[in-house]
Amino acid sequence: MLKATYNYNLADRIDSYQSRFICGDYCEIRTKAEICPLTCSIGGATGDPWKTKGARKGNPIPAKRSAGEIQSALLPELKLSRPWYKEIDASVLQFNIERLDKAYQGFFQGKRFPKFPNRSTFRSFTYKSGVKINVNKIYLPKIGEMSFFNSRPIPDGFNIKSVTLRLKVSGWFVSIRIEDKDVPAFPIISVEDVQSVVGCDVGIRKLIVQSDNKRTLNPKFSTNKRTRKLLRIRQRRISRKRKGSKNRCKSGNVVARLHQKIVDTRTAYQWKIATNLAKKYDAIFMEDLRVSNLLKRCQPKKDEETGRYLSNGQARKAGLNRAISDASWYDLRTKIQYAAAKLGKIFDVVPPHHSSQSCPECHHIDASNRDKEIFVCTECGYFADADHVGGLNIKYRGALMLRIALKCRIKVHRDSVEPKQLCLFETPNVELPTSKRRQHRIRKDKNGVPGNPPVQLNIWDIRSAANS
Ligand SMILES: [Zn+2]
Repeated sequence: MLKATYNYNLADRIDSYQSRFICGDYCEIRTKAEICPLTCSIGGATGDPWKTKGARKGNPIPAKRSAGEIQSALLPELKLSRPWYKEIDASVLQFNIERLDKAYQGFFQGKRFPKFPNRSTFRSFTYKSGVKINVNKIYLPKIGEMSFFNSRPIPDGFNIKSVTLRLKVSGWFVSIRIEDKDVPAFPIISVEDVQSVVGCDVGIRKLIVQSDNKRTLNPKFSTNKRTRKLLRIRQRRISRKRKGSKNRCKSGNVVARLHQKIVDTRTAYQWKIATNLAKKYDAIFMEDLRVSNLLKRCQPKKDEETGRYLSNGQARKAGLNRAISDASWYDLRTKIQYAAAKLGKIFDVVPPHHSSQSCPECHHIDASNRDKEIFVCTECGYFADADHVGGLNIKYRGALMLRIALKCRIKVHRDSVEPKQLCLFETPNVELPTSKRRQHRIRKDKNGVPGNPPVQLNIWDIRSAANS
């Protein structure tokens, strides 16, 4: 039913837009105001173009309705002519039209024109009101009360803004958006108080290389050898079943479950990275990568004499594209941003141009600076690991952008050609006593315990302190 209303409303909008070219421009007789086809009721099914309330002062003409408002005002009529729509809650139907509005807004901003979706696209719906939650029971209007796994209780004073139900392979999931306007916004650390800054360079072999040369490996959740083999076998099993049969549906679910598992593991891994970064550093910088541009296909190559297509390296690029999609850098970035905002840390993105080619010491940019894994500056002779240089550059750019003062350290190259000249002082080689080393190891283990900390949000403490 949701699919049917969505497609009906989309067709209605397309029709009323097209009718403008048949009827020509016209105006309203009463006010002589020019009329947009979507706000006109003549001939179309789009309803009354004017708002009944909301006339501005000194202006007899009431405000115009938007296309979405007209269509949601028509919903009661829809229920009269098609009584079976009464089985759906009103707010769900209204949100369905908002969904179409969103698709149109995307089109006006340069995305593709909204499609007529099919049934499988509608895997979720949203309530705006009327949902009640009681411990492990949830009441959904027009559906009824049912039990569910309440993973997190709603804190006192919060109102439910919207409730979305999603159908996934492993069942139905509900996500609840809550709001309390009394809670202050998360305070963000000021630039003067920043103690530690980090730049993160993302990659495929190493997911993150930090400016302090710490590396996070990329487990390649969907492109590692084992998973690809599993996927290949399970997808082959689908293709061997007859189309439209129950067995084909079952084996399709097996593949979908594997995909879901991959997504879940990746999400958990990324959250872990994000929280660790946000806990440790006061300011985090990343590259502003346009991942969609990196995923472009190779240009086709044509032989001018014979007109035949030559190999253009797309097969190799496809493998790289798969690895880039698997790393899902943008997801990681949004998670780091979220974790940083939650803990009141600074997060920003810097322009990515030449981040692995410019020298962090003298800022000389040259493609020949980098030779695969090793970075050697052709101007000043600075050398380092190529991955590390990317992180350093991002850190410096970010610090420059927000005017964060970085603490300077004199670098001592241990294996440089003339170490005596570079050293300004001898670094004492202090080895920790055995007891201290052991203590350090114990503390490290404690930090490594997985799972959420017992207190998730410290903002509640702030609020209760303010109240008392
Ligand atoms: Zn240099």
